[in-house]
Amino acid sequence: MPRPIAAHIHLSALTHNYNVARQHAGSAKVWAVVKANAYGHGLHNAVQAFAHADGLALVEVDNAIKLRELGWTKPILLLEGFFHGDDLHTVQQHQFDIAVHCNEQIEHLEQAKLSVDGESSIIKVHLKINGGMNRLGFKPEAVAAAYQRLSAIAAVKVVDLTMHFANADDEHNARLPMAEQMRRFELAKASLGEIKLEASVSNSAANLLKHDLPNSWVRAGIMIYGASPLPASAAELDLLPAMTLRSELIAIQEIAAGEAVGYGSRFVAPKPMRIGVIACGYADGYPRHAVDGTPILVNGVRTALVGRVSMDMITVDVTAISDAKVGSEVIMWGQGLPIDEVAQSSGTIGYELMCAITGRVKLITEV
Ligand SMILES: *Cc1c(COP(=O)(O)O)cnc(C)c1O
Repeated sequence: MPRPIAAHIHLSALTHNYNVARQHAGSAKVWAVVKANAYGHGLHNAVQAFAHADGLALVEVDNAIKLRELGWTKPILLLEGFFHGDDLHTVQQHQFDIAVHCNEQIEHLEQAKLSVDGESSIIKVHLKINGGMNRLGFKPEAVAAAYQRLSAIAAVKVVDLTMHFANADDEHNARLPMAEQMRRFELAKASLGEIKLEASVSNSAANLLKHDLPNSWVRAGIMIYGASPLPASAAELDLLPAMTLRSELIAIQEIAAGEAVGYGSRFVAPKPMRIGVIACGYADGYPRHAVDGTPILVNGVRTALVGRVSMDMITVDVTAISDAKVGSEVIMWGQGLPIDEVAQSSGTIGYELMCAITGRVKLITEV
């Protein structure tokens, strides 16, 4: 028998959450963002659950190919474009849309000598604007020149202007409010004069909060996996958990008051306690920084992590759970325990927990 830990992926929850994203998007289409192995949920699951999606967006070229191999025939967008000139023939062959965010990428496109053989050989480019986040993209004043160069390439068609918010969960951020990012976006748009392109600016947080942004497409990531990018809980946003990380108790220790648990003897029992040992550790992706008190479900009852997270095990208080025994079911997050609560206890966000699930954790597909 394998170790009892597994991540159960709920396809109907993924589908439901995508539909919620679509409701917020109004008339815009919705990219289901599936980078990082669909935020840890598995590309094969994503292709199934998002079968009705308008398109899939990701950053890994090899995984984009895998999506085609899995039978995905609708649009695929590479959110950071390509990383090497060599990738361009792959991009063209598989009809990937690409973001173009810097002049080096334009040079590669100019030099690639891409042949043009009908509509399907045209590479659709999403021209990326730096709205003040200062990671990727052209400053507004550089957009017209970038557009001109791209338009001169026979195998390229610029289809939209795209931008990513630094603070979509914090509209009035003092350093960079959303309105300032939109102002820069509008400057970029205006610099193209009569040329009208589509637009894509919203991620999950912006899609949930702002329904008046000029999107032809929104890019929904975290929300379709059932976690919240906002202070509001996932449940309040009508989002369902799509991953339940489940394991079992593999041992129980009865300890006296004053005894310590685990590495560093961080937790000291204030009274006689029963400690459950779970087959789940940081080598499975459970956050090592989780503090004493981080919530965990044992036999459906909410209890607390006690002691430091180790590589293959974590320890919980089962003193009050009288039916807890070796083999009892444990849920680290998912159905019955929002991933966002666990993330908060570990000083991180649901995104990181999902993506950190490691290769030794089996993904089990459920409807
Ligand atoms: C990851 C990503 C998204 C999705 O963001 P969420 O906050 O998960 O919705 C959208 N756009 C770009 C460019 C991304 O890289």
